Amino acid sequence: MSRYDWQGGPRNKGHISPLRDWERVVGQIERGEVRVGPEAAREIARRIEAQGGFWGPRKEEKEERKEITMEERDKWQWTQEELCAEAVRRFGKDPMKWAFQCPNCQDVATGDDFRKALADNPRTGRDGEPLHVSAIVGQECIGRTLGALKKSITWDGRGCDWAAYGLFSGPWEITMPDGHTAWGFPLAQAA
Ligand SMILES: [Zn+2]
Repeated sequence: MSRYDWQGGPRNKGHISPLRDWERVVGQIERGEVRVGPEAAREIARRIEAQGGFWGPRKEEKEERKEITMEERDKWQWTQEELCAEAVRRFGKDPMKWAFQCPNCQDVATGDDFRKALADNPRTGRDGEPLHVSAIVGQECIGRTLGALKKSITWDGRGCDWAAYGLFSGPWEITMPDGHTAWGFPLAQAA
């Protein structure tokens, strides 16, 4: 039981109980000291806005706040949503045009580059199915698809054998909607 027996039971007989919050507020409303309801709220909002203030976030301001600042652009931890938004900002809405940079050899590769590389050098995933661009773009250097993994040769083609999930992971860490995180290459700078 709370310090003030709000049931007004025998325990508190003879004591003066302070007004409960709702009693105080109802009293204020009844006496006209405070106003309630949507019309009053709108009127107060209009008055504040007329004085140059604003009442609650406007739609445009909400969107503005989602915009990524300069400092955040080179941050290392992203949500998947942030990363996609930033990729769209840099390269547009077509994910095949999104470009990632290998942190080892600095090669910049797009989804289109990977699509072509996979067409020329088909690979299968662990499940035996053909590997899709989405499984490796931003995760692996394009050299891994083009032939850098072949132990029999010294690779002098494009890219290298680096992977974001390798010994030196990342360097970006992306949090997926379900909460798990994945390593990724950084987005390349906008062209
Ligand atoms: Zn590389």
